[in-house]
Amino acid sequence: MAEAAEKKVEYGGCLCGAVRFTATPADREVGACHCSMCRRWSAGPFLVRDCGTSLKIEDAKSLGVYRSSDWAERAFCKTCGTPLYYRLIDKDTYFVSAEAFDEVSDIAFTSQIFIDEKPRYYDFANKTHNMTGAEVFAAFGPPEDWAKG
Ligand SMILES: [Zn+2]
Ligand SMILES: [Zn+2]
Repeated sequence: MAEAAEKKVEYGGCLCGAVRFTATPADREVGACHCSMCRRWSAGPFLVRDCGTSLKIEDAKSLGVYRSSDWAERAFCKTCGTPLYYRLIDKDTYFVSAEAFDEVSDIAFTSQIFIDEKPRYYDFANKTHNMTGAEVFAAFGPPEDWAKG
């Protein structure tokens, strides 16, 4: 687990800079989702930080939003294509791309979900807490309450 640290406002944005945001992540931890939708959308496992309801987009005119399921949407920059966040619509909670933050030096990679959907051609060497899709649903409720879709 990452060291307990004071929550603070952090800054980030897309590759071209058209979309900039602030957020206050819940902790200093990064989780990976290996589900087939995240992998196709983000060109790899989607590495995220739980930002709760704290995400604020500075100027949304370059923000594209794709409704990927009944309960979730995914947003990206319409100019450069950077994936930015996964949002649970009902709860208005955001899982923001860890790599969209400007500062990535003091965060820890601690969890992996949908590990059963991970293709065999890659493996992270990090020691993390890993959960299958079924374990995620058992722990956090049905898909509409969690990061799949
Ligand atoms: Zn951009
Ligand atoms: Zn996923």
